[in-house]
Amino acid sequence: MNRGVVSTMIIEEVEDVLEQSLRPSDLSQMIGREREKKGVEMMINSAKIKSKALDHILFHGPPGLGKTSFAHVIAKEMGVGIHITNGTVLDKTGDLAAILSSLEPNSILFIDEIHRLNGKIEEMLYPAMEDKVLDIIVGKGPSAKSLRIDLPDFTLIGATTKMSAISSPLRDRFGAHFRLDFYSDEELSQLIQQKAGILRVRVDHKASLKMAQSSRMTARVAIRILKRVIDTATVSKMDVIDESIVDRTLDLLGIDSNGLDQTDRKILEIMYYNFDNKPVGLKNLAMSLSEAEETLEDVYEPYLIKSGYIKRTPKGRVLTSSGEKIIIKA
Ligand code: ADP
Repeated sequence: MNRGVVSTMIIEEVEDVLEQSLRPSDLSQMIGREREKKGVEMMINSAKIKSKALDHILFHGPPGLGKTSFAHVIAKEMGVGIHITNGTVLDKTGDLAAILSSLEPNSILFIDEIHRLNGKIEEMLYPAMEDKVLDIIVGKGPSAKSLRIDLPDFTLIGATTKMSAISSPLRDRFGAHFRLDFYSDEELSQLIQQKAGILRVRVDHKASLKMAQSSRMTARVAIRILKRVIDTATVSKMDVIDESIVDRTLDLLGIDSNGLDQTDRKILEIMYYNFDNKPVGLKNLAMSLSEAEETLEDVYEPYLIKSGYIKRTPKGRVLTSSGEKIIIKA
């Protein structure tokens, strides 16, 4: 293996360890989310009293808002193991059968992007979730037989950015649905202070609020900005991060005073100039932007809608007057 590959692997491992160390370790470490934390806590306490596995839970909402963190925290609070997989990689029923039958009793199976599971896997999940059994067909043709295997009690935690793409039979088999909405600036500022503490850097209040306001109301973006701000402070040999370091970093990252990045602005510009701000469909917009429709719909659009820059109409997406103002001012 050449040295470049080895150092890339080491960097990736360090990033992984860093990512893990930044995750909240228990419910008390999760910023905000008071309603969801209360709901989850109640379910955990009840499962513990009954000495049973926690009921299945579905988290939904845009990326980077804490769905995976909740799954980890729940496993920790329950004192059970967690097996993590993704709806895009879980494509063979044999793989799901192997995972389910090897789970420790009461442990957690976390499926991220659960809306991407194929139909066969979904069907296999129904009896597993409901009756803790697996129905497997052995052989082919007239000699095929159906085998029923008992599974250990387990909890399925699903996460999705697209609730509408989950079939209702699957949705209905979850005992609780929690929608994770965008964070407020104050919550994100607290979150930045928490992560800065873990990374042993000092950030003054104005600086963390500025980062929060530029983070698209999203925890993952706030952490990314904090890491880059720390780079700037390190290079400038500053001990405490203040607003001027944040401003310099945001400038380098191409994030403007409204917290919009280059892609956000490009979306607004395309709608205004290329489509004369007439309603535009997702497909046309994604094509003009050279982005996948899914990325546009799941990653960019929710924040632009939440901030009131664009809105959906029955005929397509249009800029609001605040969205237009951003373009005219630029
Ligand atoms: P999702 O699964 O929704 O994409 P994650 O759970 O991976 O989002 O969250 C992204 C990052 O933000 C994680 O590293 C996590 O540490 C942090 N994070 C998210 N929500 C919170 C929270 N409420 N409190 C503390 N950290 C959080």
